[in-house]
Amino acid sequence: MDVTFFTAWIEEIIRTLALCRDRLTRLDAAIGDADHGTNLDRGFTAVRQALSDTPPQTPGQALTLVGNTLIRRVGGASGPLYGSAFRQLGRSLGDAREVSLADLATALESAVETVRRLGGAAEGDKTMVDALAPAVRELTDAVREGDKERAALERAARAAAEGARATIPLRARKGRASYLGPRSIGHEDPGAASAALIVAALCA
Ligand code: ADP
Ligand code: MG
Repeated sequence: MDVTFFTAWIEEIIRTLALCRDRLTRLDAAIGDADHGTNLDRGFTAVRQALSDTPPQTPGQALTLVGNTLIRRVGGASGPLYGSAFRQLGRSLGDAREVSLADLATALESAVETVRRLGGAAEGDKTMVDALAPAVRELTDAVREGDKERAALERAARAAAEGARATIPLRARKGRASYLGPRSIGHEDPGAASAALIVAALCA
């Protein structure tokens, strides 16, 4: 996977987040402050501009550019968390021009670890971690089992979607939704939903 692959991933994220902006915002209206879809759409629209201003030459540069742009342009909890995750992805991939599936799995593992450390959320706290952590686990298993790229990425996407859906019955323990206490039960977490879209964009 080269810079073209990663640029295509980023463009697919931009497209899918724009399409799903209103759904993400509705999810955030139920248990937050109704800005998650617009936050991410604003951030990734800025990413599109940044990509055309300074076309990246390596996968690491592409992902670092996403991270820096999100940190600059997206407020709230999700901007710094996603921004740091993409920056960590970029750092892990370094200057490599080609990245293997195993490299990507390792880089994603460290990106999820960054989200956990920064946000202090564990799985089951009803956050983006509930989609990201199972996706990375599944990808790592797929690599170990020798799956081809497409099959492995599809497994990761499925695990992320299941993880997001599984946040519905949970009570939020982190972020704005946690202020609602038991009233956060019965709604999908918006950050878990956006994380599932971002992972799904990898195989689209
Ligand atoms: P804000 O909550 O500041 O309005 P957003 O609406 O953009 O920010 O993002 C909300 C999402 O951010 C939540 O649905 C959740 O998935 C994620 N989130 C919030 N706090 C944390 C945290 N401490 N750790 C991990 N994810 C978090
Ligand atoms: Mg919000």
